[in-house]
Amino acid sequence: IREHLVKSKKLEVVEQMGAAISHEIRNPLTVAQGFVQLLQETSTNKETQNKYLSIIKAELESAERVIKDYLTFSKPALESIEKLIIQDELTHVLKILQPLANGNSVKISTEFTPKAMIQGDRQKFHQCFLNVLKNAIESMPNGGELVIETVTTRTDVIIRVRDNGIGMTKEQLDRLGEPYYSTKGSKGTGLGMMVVYSIVRAMKGKIEVQSEEGMGTVFQFSFHQFIPEKSFD
Ligand code: ADP
Ligand code: MG
Repeated sequence: IREHLVKSKKLEVVEQMGAAISHEIRNPLTVAQGFVQLLQETSTNKETQNKYLSIIKAELESAERVIKDYLTFSKPALESIEKLIIQDELTHVLKILQPLANGNSVKISTEFTPKAMIQGDRQKFHQCFLNVLKNAIESMPNGGELVIETVTTRTDVIIRVRDNGIGMTKEQLDRLGEPYYSTKGSKGTGLGMMVVYSIVRAMKGKIEVQSEEGMGTVFQFSFHQFIPEKSFD
């Protein structure tokens, strides 16, 4: 029965996210569609046409941002639990973000505990750290240093992500993870951290955040370590 409860709870999270995604993507698509229709039906001058086209472009970009924060790696709802070597998975995500880091003159350094493992859904783990690391890079628009390190305790794997970017105020820190809370205006969705918290909760992990305005931010994640049974062959 316990296992059952855990499963239905997970399904609930997936369903809620599914509903939110289609809502968030449908809105900008509906607006874009409306303006396409206007372009087709009315004879407008070049200037108005260009205005409509830039609205369409902005709405499509907004839909794309939602998809990136939510489902870059997702295959449909089916969840598969695997053993994940933290170093390999984080290296994969960092490779994807390298162009963004280069664009912001952000230097990335890593210090991994080799072979440290946890159990979880690979795609969701990627999505989670994509959002965290992307935020860290975006917090350093004029360059800086992003440090990712892992430490193991007897029971846990700890992943620390540190930036020396713009940091957060107490109020911003309190609202972190609230759906649609963003300080990035039209460039943000405010959905990234909500996805992070929901994935980490589903993985039974913990998140701690320390931040100081103008100084930077440290995210610390802890997950139950997967320790393979000793074998004698
Ligand atoms: P978005 O990135 O679309 O704004 P997120 O949910 O990913 O939405 O993040 C919410 C907000 O949390 C951001 O707008 C930003 O204000 C704050 N934030 C998250 N990570 C950091 C960070 N590393 N440094 C400073 N602020 C951050
Ligand atoms: Mg974000």
